[in-house]
Amino acid sequence: MVRKHVLADNYAVTAVLKSCVLQRALGSGKEVNGLVLKSGLGLDRSIGLKLVELYGKCGVLEDARKMFDGMPERNVVACTVMIGSCFDCGMVEEAIEVFNEMGTRNTVCWTMVIDGLVRNGEFNRDVSTYNSMIGGLALHGKSIEAVELFSEMLKERVRPNGITFVGVLNACSHGGLVDLGGEIFESMEMIHGIEPEVEHYGCMVDILGRVGRLEEAFDFIGRMGVEADDKMLCPLLSACKIHKNIGIGEKVAKLLSEHYRIDSGSFIMLSNFYASLGRWSYAAEVREKMEKGGIIKEPGCSSIEVNNAIHEFLSGDLRYPERKRTYKRLEELNYLTKFEGYLPATKVALHDIDDEQKELALAVHSERLAICYGLVSTEAYTTLRVGKNVRICDDCHAMNKLIAKITRRKVVVRDRNRFHHFKNGECSCKDYW
Ligand SMILES: [Zn+2]
Ligand SMILES: [Zn+2]
Repeated sequence: MVRKHVLADNYAVTAVLKSCVLQRALGSGKEVNGLVLKSGLGLDRSIGLKLVELYGKCGVLEDARKMFDGMPERNVVACTVMIGSCFDCGMVEEAIEVFNEMGTRNTVCWTMVIDGLVRNGEFNRDVSTYNSMIGGLALHGKSIEAVELFSEMLKERVRPNGITFVGVLNACSHGGLVDLGGEIFESMEMIHGIEPEVEHYGCMVDILGRVGRLEEAFDFIGRMGVEADDKMLCPLLSACKIHKNIGIGEKVAKLLSEHYRIDSGSFIMLSNFYASLGRWSYAAEVREKMEKGGIIKEPGCSSIEVNNAIHEFLSGDLRYPERKRTYKRLEELNYLTKFEGYLPATKVALHDIDDEQKELALAVHSERLAICYGLVSTEAYTTLRVGKNVRICDDCHAMNKLIAKITRRKVVVRDRNRFHHFKNGECSCKDYW
């Protein structure tokens, strides 16, 4: 093709490189690399990634590294490919280095690292490696694996630190391992000589709240000796709502409303709690207080990775490709979810606009735009992965569950605190976040 002076396009080049990878054809791959550079076609992302993979598979890590370093945008996908190449060459430390430098990590990436470490029969047995592994497993709801890794760490006589315990207690919380979590918490000071900090108390509040042991959870807040933050109070409040414990719920709500720094997600949670009890004056009072105190109105921003590119959305965003189809899909879903019993929580939206507008304001929260964009631009059944800078609001959480059910997709949303895996009308957080 090239010899006949037919200009190859990126698509053709990627296809050729794919077969080079399969056959470990280093020579041909390098030839293609040279031709692409000469042709002025420019190394686009997919070509670059294929070359990184090929060089890794063929054991020339320097070339893979050079290619990787030359890439303008090193996102999750690129880093994951690079990590794979490092492992292919048996360079565990280099793989971990790339991994540690990553901003966000997804499940594919974690799997790559764990597999790579196992494959290379090596595990850099120091506390920070263990910590990042345990923390990552916990974040993805792999509780048992995280706890197992923790006990292996102790067996190997690696001394845990405070971060280790945040990870393993988080794992206990996500996995509902109440007794084990309690034991591990107590062991911190007694066995390991580490004084629990706010995060550790937060984990215990989480663990107990999740299973409905709300009095004990509230006691833990008292034991802490420092003020609880909204990160701790919000999940407890939603637990009170789920377990219908109004007594504790009101105490928590009071603490939360006295809190001076509270973001818009927490604010919605609080008004929602009062609204669910029918206490409108409280809800209004909360809002007034927030307005006077100036709540942190961090603009909601969501991102989604589609075809190796990251797309970002703000609430009510109108400036992106596929706008018409995205909004049309959003409208359809708003309509369909109502049949599934979805009621927009217009009460918690703004008070000074009418109901229809409130519904509209909720409906264009950035993550919904990101999800709908994902729906219209990927093939059926593709898992959608969305990142969000603030806590998911009540309303979007309910909506996402139904979207996952109706479209039969898995939707993974990473918000400020955790991962939510939405599937078939349910969320991995069990409505506790
Ligand atoms: Zn929302
Ligand atoms: Zn969730």
